[in-house]
Amino acid sequence: MGGMERKDTVVIGAGAAGLMAALELTAAGHDVQVLEARARVGGRVHTVRLPDGRFANAGAEWVNPEHHEVLGLVERYGLGLRSGGGFEALVVDGWAQVEEAGDAERVEEALEGLEGRLTDLEHPWNDPVAREMDRRSATDWMDTAGLSPSERAWMTAYVRTEYMVEPEELSELVLALGEELDSGETAYRIAGGTAELTDAMARELGEDRIARGEPVRMVEHGRDGVVVRTDGRAVAADRAVIAVPLPALERITLAPAVSVPSVNQGRGGKLLVPYAQRPDAGAGDRHVDRAGFQHVYDNAPEDQPGVPGILTAYAYRPLPEPEVLDTVGALFPELGAPDGAPVAAWWSEEPETGCTYSARGPGDLDSLRRLREPIGRLYPAGEHTEIISGYLDSALRSGRRVAARIVSG
Ligand SMILES: Cc1cc2nc3c(=O)[nH]c(=O)nc-3n(C[C@H](O)[C@H](O)[C@H](O)COP(=O)(O)OP(=O)(O)OC[C@H]3O[C@@H](n4cnc5c(N)ncnc54)[C@H](O)[C@@H]3O)c2cc1C
Repeated sequence: MGGMERKDTVVIGAGAAGLMAALELTAAGHDVQVLEARARVGGRVHTVRLPDGRFANAGAEWVNPEHHEVLGLVERYGLGLRSGGGFEALVVDGWAQVEEAGDAERVEEALEGLEGRLTDLEHPWNDPVAREMDRRSATDWMDTAGLSPSERAWMTAYVRTEYMVEPEELSELVLALGEELDSGETAYRIAGGTAELTDAMARELGEDRIARGEPVRMVEHGRDGVVVRTDGRAVAADRAVIAVPLPALERITLAPAVSVPSVNQGRGGKLLVPYAQRPDAGAGDRHVDRAGFQHVYDNAPEDQPGVPGILTAYAYRPLPEPEVLDTVGALFPELGAPDGAPVAAWWSEEPETGCTYSARGPGDLDSLRRLREPIGRLYPAGEHTEIISGYLDSALRSGRRVAARIVSG
């Protein structure tokens, strides 16, 4: 076993959570090694760039005003923000709704009925009301709230788009926590693409601390420390930060085996379709008989009028490309044919991800509580360990929290 490296902490995964944990630990004087399976850093932050300069975010894209970790890094690295979006429509029962319909407003009012009922937003597992809501699904909520059929259709499209699951898979508690803690306001995008942020984090950390193309296969762990093994390396350390999505963790052998709490995950992703022109935003709502996706928008920066766009179809399950292109063609005949090859980003199909992002279902609250505790020498991090999960900001917050926990001993 000659040549085993020794570090204070091994961080598994160079997504936003792993990079943040590594930066914070390094700042606290730890000797850190990050092991990343892919040839690139960023994980679910990935900006696809076309040769003509057009780009689109395959993963994280929108930044809400309360995403202080993201906004702090934007400032620290001197990145630009652009506000607002271009053309955008939610597809409900085949209608691509450009304007927010009356159903949207009525559902939002009904959701406000969930406000003010939770008493411990930082420890929802200690709150009896939260525990009760955790047992119910978003479908149960729709029943209690007495939504009309068209309001239910809108809410279903919304849940599929926001959480990438079906309403019966999402807990009512996630909706209630969202009402309290998540503005849902897609205020900004990072001007040069979201990957600028994770690239800057990797630069600050230093490439010598990040090994790319090194999928971790096994983590041996005991009272005194860990040994983390890839195909070609073995790194011994006092502890490991496990900053990979839960489906990807299932592919890593933990020795001895431990049961890692699991929470429900969304599926699907985006199909990015380059077009020589953009949809006519003034043409009003459009209809198609069948649409597999629920959300469609133009990804090209709106401050570059006239440049060709990239239309993004957002779907809560992977869809065959011809089906998406047919639907887009029926909804937007003015676009003509794509002027480049579509880029599929079905994250739930990728072994390094296996999901889009977590969407806790009925009964998942206790798993969340346990995911926030170390398992011996193993420290889970990642968006799925946060009370408001599923965002880039969630991942960054988790990295900071886990690093602080390690530093405080
Ligand atoms: C389609 C889509 C749209 C999204 N839109 C938004 C949005 O608009 N706004 C927003 O804030 N968030 C959005 N998100 C969510 C955001 O991208 C994630 O919450 C965040 O990037 C997750 O970061 P993470 O570090 O927890 O996980 P990841 O980014 O998944 O990082 C995990 C890392 O671990 C690596 N890894 C996996 N297995 C191994 C292994 N065995 N060994 C070593 N490394 C391994 C992976 O390659 C990856 O780099 C979106 C996500 C998706 C999929």
